[in-house]
Amino acid sequence: TTAAARRNEGESRTMARYIGPVCRLCRREDAKLFLKGDRCYTDKCGYERRQYPPGQHGQARRRRPSDYGQQLREKQKVKRMYGLIEKQFRGYYYKAARMKGVTGENLLQLLERRLDNTALRSGFASSHAEARQLVRHGHFLVNGKKVNIPSYQVRPGDVIEVREKSRKVQKI
Ligand code: SF4
Repeated sequence: TTAAARRNEGESRTMARYIGPVCRLCRREDAKLFLKGDRCYTDKCGYERRQYPPGQHGQARRRRPSDYGQQLREKQKVKRMYGLIEKQFRGYYYKAARMKGVTGENLLQLLERRLDNTALRSGFASSHAEARQLVRHGHFLVNGKKVNIPSYQVRPGDVIEVREKSRKVQKI
């Protein structure tokens, strides 16, 4: 389809996402973030192979991180685990801060309630990226209606199912 046709169907609402190399993110955060799905559980895992930060100075002496540095790494870690970029993540933060209760918990709730995350947690995909793609390709129905928006916020009681036509998809 042409871009114009897609716009007419309301499908041009694609949110930017990180599409660069991911193993270096794990190496930067000094933790396995499981961004590659099945590969993460093999000895091909980039973090298992090289447990030091990426880049020219990755193997240089490590300095004690400042408080700010620690907070920054924790923020980046969560952001990257959910496959988001700064702008979108920041939006969640502001929303969480406005809600009643503990901001950190609110933030995690908002992130966990994303439809792509729900698909991942239900075992349909082996990574966030894959789950996002399944949602984007319209394989899921929420309360009987097709929803292909990865950031869709799931509510208690929502019924999420795989679209009839998609049940033949081998991956699913
Ligand atoms: Fe991270 Fe998975 Fe790459 Fe290992 S294989 S470094 S867990 S993304």
